[in-house]
Amino acid sequence: MAQTTVVVPEVGMTAATPTACPCPGSLFPYPPPRAGMAVSRKCLRAAQAELGAGMLSGLVESMRASSPTHARAAAALAAGVDDEHAAWMARHPSALGKFEEIVAASKGKQIVMFLDYDGTLSPIVDDPDAAFMSETVSHSPPLFTLLPAVVFIVPAMHLCSVLTTCEHVINFLIWNEQMRMAVRSVAKHFPTAIVSGRCRDKVFEFVKLAELYYAGSHGMDIKGPAKSSKSKAKGVLFQPASEFLPMIEEVHQRLIEETKHVAGAKVENNKFCVSVHFRCVDEKSWGALAETVKGVMREYPKLRMSQGRMVFEVRPTIKWDKGKALEFLLESLGFADCPNVLPVYIGDDRTDEDAFKVLRRRGQGVGILVSKHPKDTSASFSLQEPAEVMEFLLRLVEWKQLSRARLRLRRQADA
Ligand SMILES: [Mg+2]
Repeated sequence: MAQTTVVVPEVGMTAATPTACPCPGSLFPYPPPRAGMAVSRKCLRAAQAELGAGMLSGLVESMRASSPTHARAAAALAAGVDDEHAAWMARHPSALGKFEEIVAASKGKQIVMFLDYDGTLSPIVDDPDAAFMSETVSHSPPLFTLLPAVVFIVPAMHLCSVLTTCEHVINFLIWNEQMRMAVRSVAKHFPTAIVSGRCRDKVFEFVKLAELYYAGSHGMDIKGPAKSSKSKAKGVLFQPASEFLPMIEEVHQRLIEETKHVAGAKVENNKFCVSVHFRCVDEKSWGALAETVKGVMREYPKLRMSQGRMVFEVRPTIKWDKGKALEFLLESLGFADCPNVLPVYIGDDRTDEDAFKVLRRRGQGVGILVSKHPKDTSASFSLQEPAEVMEFLLRLVEWKQLSRARLRLRRQADA
């Protein structure tokens, strides 16, 4: 695509002609040049507003904007925003389409992978407790063993739809296991961290890969791999907000109590932060929910509220976020101020922008936003959905394996 080459030519230049770089081997141009006009999207601009400062109407507008399936977003798409989307893709081309240039830029550098969880490795689901990507599938009773009971219990006229549902569930479980295997393969070749807003223990329960780094609670709860004798940061544990634990527990209970009248609202304790999910709340109740949460927050000035995809995030006011977690992990891995590292961060949410901005400031790394729709982002590249993330991870593994095989053959030939 002609427009795409306008966006990322520096990527190719850096990899192919390192001498052209003033600091050889140190920079992966970040982000790509921003050609053309900025995308004008009124509703998404509203979503950027900090919730604490906004009026309630702005808050509800922001809630609407965080819903990718919201009627207004769908209408905008239907109305024809192809040009806007094409312009956005030109500035944030597909990481799959630019794969060769990305890996070429990693020449002589250690790739370190940072992966968000929800919406990146796991599809967004209505029930946040069901977003697993673990071998739960292999521990669950095989669904086909339930089939005889289903046949007797369910009237024949419903059998077809039940079987279809079973098929969807099985496909979902298989897909999750495939993603888990892809992450495991990536971690065999590159240091890999999961960076999530979720509680670290819960993310681990979903993923169940002991060889990874986990940064839960938006990076406020970091732990190194439980198994990896090679890791420089083995067992590293960092909890910069530990003093807030009692307050978080208190506000969690308050939010449960105060929001129980809002049907569909789900309050999740993520240890160092609290999430109030409104994905299953009727839009008519969004204003009431926002007002309730804001009311509780007024009593906790040491906590702040931000908004993610169909979720309010309540967390300590300390200056710590996913970007800081990324820097902390790089430092723990021995890559502080090191030019020979290429961090790759993949995420879908507003909270991931902190990490994209860190990569931009460092002037190194690859930020990849997972989104089907144009969004304001500091990421360089994009992937449409978790399925593309899996494809990208598998290609990375395949590329690394081939690179190693070629190196072995060259050494044998030289010997
Ligand atoms: Mg996410």
